[in-house]
Amino acid sequence: MKRVLVTGAAGFLGSHLCDRFIKEGFYVIGMDNLITGNMENIEHLMPLENFEFYHQDVSKYVHIPGNLDYILHFASPASPIDYLKIPIQTLKVGSLGTHNLLGLARAKNARMLIASTSEVYGDPLVHPQTEEYYGNVNPIGPRGVYDEAKRFQEAMTMAYHTFHGLETRIVRIFNTYGPRMRLNDGRVLPAFIGQALRGEDLTVFGDGSQTRSFCYVDDQVEGIFRLLMSDYPYPVNIGNPDEITIAQFAEEIISLTGTSQKVIYKPLPKDDPMQRKPDITKAREILGWEPKVGRSEGLKITYDYFKSLSIEKLHKKEHKDFAKYIK
Ligand code: UDP
Repeated sequence: MKRVLVTGAAGFLGSHLCDRFIKEGFYVIGMDNLITGNMENIEHLMPLENFEFYHQDVSKYVHIPGNLDYILHFASPASPIDYLKIPIQTLKVGSLGTHNLLGLARAKNARMLIASTSEVYGDPLVHPQTEEYYGNVNPIGPRGVYDEAKRFQEAMTMAYHTFHGLETRIVRIFNTYGPRMRLNDGRVLPAFIGQALRGEDLTVFGDGSQTRSFCYVDDQVEGIFRLLMSDYPYPVNIGNPDEITIAQFAEEIISLTGTSQKVIYKPLPKDDPMQRKPDITKAREILGWEPKVGRSEGLKITYDYFKSLSIEKLHKKEHKDFAKYIK
């Protein structure tokens, strides 16, 4: 049985990746320090023989007994509100955490895939963004702690690849959504759906003309899985190129949820990228991948998930009681 370590396992993407590897017949070791992760996302995996969980911060030395075939580094805060709340941890998990895991990968002779991001392109001056674009990032702005940690992470990973000959993969993840997103992390989709469900007005930042391109989580996981299994060591964009303005997106959420609430406008946060859309030529050509789930289908599934949450959750509360899950 192949053994894989997934960091950030209790997070949105990490937990979906754990599900995928379990489905593929792997032995899965999940790791998370639960700062932004939620044990409920992997609760269903805890009783399985081929799943185990380590409550650990990867910024500290990581020890895993036994062999490892793959490491996927998905631990990191991933929303602008989180970077503001925990900027130092954000920097550390992308830099020190990545270094620790690269060392672990080397010791175990494992292949390492890192979760990079469209944020390496910053507020892009090239549209759509190709992997060749170097980006337009403000290192000392509010997003700098995330963007620069991720850029450093890519540099460190490439150095281990070229200097140590380590097998590495780099995925640049564009906005991704689906069940298990945190309702209160400030990201636009849970923000809008949460507001609609609570009967609040939808808060569009700026004039809403900024664009994003939203990828459904199953498509994202498929792209990541294919990249891991490929032999391509350079960055690959994985995202859905179907671009939409945030104002249009708010309208879509209003018609999806049938809410009678309206849109209200708030100031645009500093360094908020004006446009974002992946060029996925590489993913198409190298991985034979492209997204399959359209926004209306994906939003419907995601809305049903949020609707099924308890009133208490809808009004806050994230489950962090780790002790309950110790085997
Ligand atoms: N946004 C918004 N209202 C909200 C939350 C976010 O208009 O309540 C905007 C935000 O300013 C950005 C876009 O939606 O332009 C996407 O924000 P998100 O935090 O989801 O991710 P980003 O792609 O900016 O990292």
